[in-house]
This record gives sequence, structure tokens and C-alpha cells, in this order.
Amino acid sequence: MQDRRDVIIVGAGIIGLCSALSCARRGLRVTVVDRAPRQRDGCSFGNAGMIVPSHFIPLAAPGMVTLGLKWMLDPESPFYIRPRPSLDLLRWGLGFFRAASAARVDRAAPVLRDLSLLSRQCYEELGFDIGLVKKGLLMLCKEERTLEEEAHVAQRAEALGIPAQVLDARQTAAADPGVTMYVHGSVFYPLDCHLSPSRLMTALETELETMGAELLHGHEVQGWEKGTRNGRALLTGLRAGNRLLSADEYVIAAGVWSDEMAQHLGLRLTMQAGKGYSLTLTSPRRLPELCSICTEARLAVTPMDGALRVGGTMELAGMDESISHRRVRGIIRSFPKYFPDFTEADFSGLQPWSGLRPVPPDGLPYLGRTRLWANLTVATGHAMMGLSLAAATGRIVADFVTDSTPPLDLALLSPDR
Ligand SMILES: Cc1cc2nc3c(=O)[nH]c(=O)nc-3n(C[C@H](O)[C@H](O)[C@H](O)COP(=O)(O)OP(=O)(O)OC[C@H]3O[C@@H](n4cnc5c(N)ncnc54)[C@H](O)[C@@H]3O)c2cc1C
Repeated sequence: MQDRRDVIIVGAGIIGLCSALSCARRGLRVTVVDRAPRQRDGCSFGNAGMIVPSHFIPLAAPGMVTLGLKWMLDPESPFYIRPRPSLDLLRWGLGFFRAASAARVDRAAPVLRDLSLLSRQCYEELGFDIGLVKKGLLMLCKEERTLEEEAHVAQRAEALGIPAQVLDARQTAAADPGVTMYVHGSVFYPLDCHLSPSRLMTALETELETMGAELLHGHEVQGWEKGTRNGRALLTGLRAGNRLLSADEYVIAAGVWSDEMAQHLGLRLTMQAGKGYSLTLTSPRRLPELCSICTEARLAVTPMDGALRVGGTMELAGMDESISHRRVRGIIRSFPKYFPDFTEADFSGLQPWSGLRPVPPDGLPYLGRTRLWANLTVATGHAMMGLSLAAATGRIVADFVTDSTPPLDLALLSPDR
């Protein structure tokens, strides 16, 4: 067991583990602290496993406010805000409304593109097997109008240097002949990838332990020790379980719980928990080769080592991980409409999984140093793209921790914004 560490990372989700790996590879002594046991199944495990440079438009985008209000009236819709008296929710809603402008999206898109492409490259270069499947993604569209809208997005993607091809129904069928897709057409994004998130998490933990990093599970961070150096406020330790741990540098990567943690340090990381569900067919009738998004239903469909995972829904209902069977029913009803080889009965008896995404109002992660604390880095708020952006996030966290210059302009992601 190490006594003094170079860096302590709070949170052993995908962001924490990727940050730990990048720090360990720079020769730092790393400890990762997580309150959950080693066998856990939080947000970084049951997700759809997609690495998606195609997702360069943040959640807060023009049209989303109207669409969200329409969906609120449908109990099986993919988006829902549980109305509740909450100042945090009000602050988040105002932030979302302000961010959902064309000008803002124009500024955010190149940043998300750069982060995504860097992340894809970092995953490719990890140097151990993570089961990365580099076959691309189909945005499946049942309606002609949706395909037209997605074709506009594809044009923007091309303009940003992300290859995209608009396919009609026949071309879509030819792109993945092992499964029937009942659609008007699709957009194919060849750079997108997929993998099994659990396999990735296990591979990262194994690699970290091989490198001598310490993974402290079952230790909840309950408080911080503070001091000063050269007139600047500094973190000098943290209390986790019955232990006092100290390091030169600290990283908060505690997913949707990061805001609560940051508030103990006088910081605000405004976020809502965006609950989503997934169902995994272990012996599917058919296995697509490509991952896909059922665009109108907002479903993500991913083949994973012989299984097939279907996930979706963005439900803002507070820190509540309970399963809404109505929303899960919405997923089960929508899926066979796109993939008619399957029936709703295929899902009977399956235990749905739920996870809480950390969703900031403007749809951009919080990534960087803060003004208040000289030795703290924040890495959270990746919403629907935590897995996708994790490898790049880890690399950038290691840049901050070692006082190196990150390879991208991260002003829009500042935790102080
Ligand atoms: C249905 C669904 C599908 C998704 N599909 C995709 C996808 O295809 N691609 C993609 O990129 N993203 C996807 N996502 C989003 C992705 O799963 C998340 O963005 C990502 O998992 C967030 O990772 P994280 O490390 O920030 O947080 P988490 O995985 O939540 O990890 C945070 C960790 O912090 C720990 N923690 C919290 N508080 C404390 C404390 N006080 N002390 C110690 N530890 C603490 C928690 O125990 C937890 O382990 C999906 C999400 C859902 C719900």
C-alpha cells in the first residue's frame, strides 16, 4: 500500500479509470477511490458502448426545447422531466434554454468533434485488447422527414471533417445484411465504433493493477482537508471511509454525484441525473454487425460479444435509479418497429438496467482546473457521451495533473463557466 500518492481520483467510472490510466502511464502513483464495491453496475457498465464522433451536436440544441415539451405528454416517450419544486432543476432548465441556440451549437460542435476524434485515437492506441469494433454506425430513420433532417446533420458532419453517407432503404439493408431493418433510410458514420463497456472496464482495471495503481473500492469520500500554498487554496487530503488519504493532485470524476462533492469545496457543477435504461438479449434471434440509433425513438442498439443491447430514454427525475416500467415499455415497443425480426415477447422476463448520466445544462463536459483550488481537476458531465469521450478526457486530465498543455482549446468546458 502506498503512503503518499501523486494523484487521487474520486470515482471509478469510465472517466475515473481512463484518467487513472493516463496518469499512471506518465509515471504517477495513482489511487482511485470509489464508494461502490468492485462488482458494480453503474452508469459506465450498462450503457450502449458506442464511441461516436458522429455525435458532435450537444443535447442542448435548437428544436430540443419544443421536442422535449411535446414528449413530456407521452408516458412512453424517450425524454421526460419529472415536474418537482427544485431550484437546481430550475437553474438547469434556464441553462439548457440559454444554451439551445444555433450560435452556441456552432461553437460547441468543433470542440466535441476534436474531443471525439482524439478519444477514438486514444482507444485505438491503448495497447491492450478492449474488443473495439470499428465498423461504423447507422442512424436509422423510419420517416422521410427524419431522413431529410439527418441528411442535413450529415452535411454538417462532412463540413467538420467527419465522414457521413446518406443511404436509402436498399443501401441500408446492404450495409448490414444479417438483420432486417424497416426504415426509410439511414446515415452511415464509418468512423463510429462500439464495444462492450463491462469488458472495457475490466480491461482498464486489470491494466491499472498491473501498473501498480491502487483501486480503493467501498470507500466513500466524505470530506476534504484544506490548506494554502503561496497564497493559493490547496487540497491537502480527503477522508474516505475511516481513512485519511493525501496526494499532490486530486481529480473529481464522480459522475452525477460530482456536484454534491464539489459543493463541499465551494464549487457548483450544475447537472441533472439523466436516467436511461438498457435491456440485453443474450441470445438474440439475429445479430446486427453495426451499432445503430433508431432516430425517432432515440434508441441505441449495439451488438456486444454475441449479445444485443437496446438502450435509451433520458428521464430527469432526480437521483432516483428506480425503474419506470412505462419508459422501459416504450423501448420494448419501439425496437421491433425498426427491427421486425424481433418481437416484444423477446424481452419478456429480462431485467432492465438503469443508469444515471451526468447531464450539464449546455451538454458539454466539465473538464479542467478550477479557479478556487490549485491542485484540483474536474472531469465530469459527459452526459450521453461518457464512454465515447473518456479516453481523451483521461489524457487531458493527465495533462492538467502534470501541468502540461492539453492538445485542444478547452475554454468552453471550463468547470468555472
Ligand atoms: C442507457 C444509457 C446508454 C448510454 N450509452 C452510451 C454510449 O453508447 N456511449 C457513451 O459514450 N455514453 C453512453 N452513455 C453515457 C455514459 O454511460 C456515461 O456518460 C458515463 O458512464 C459516465 O461515466 P462517469 O465515470 O462520469 O460516471 P459513473 O460511471 O457514474 O462513475 C462515477 C463513480 O463515482 C463514484 N462516486 C460517487 N460519489 C462518490 C463518493 N462520494 N465517494 C466515492 N465514490 C463516489 C460512483 O460510485 C461511481 O462509480 C449511456 C448512458 C445510459 C444511461
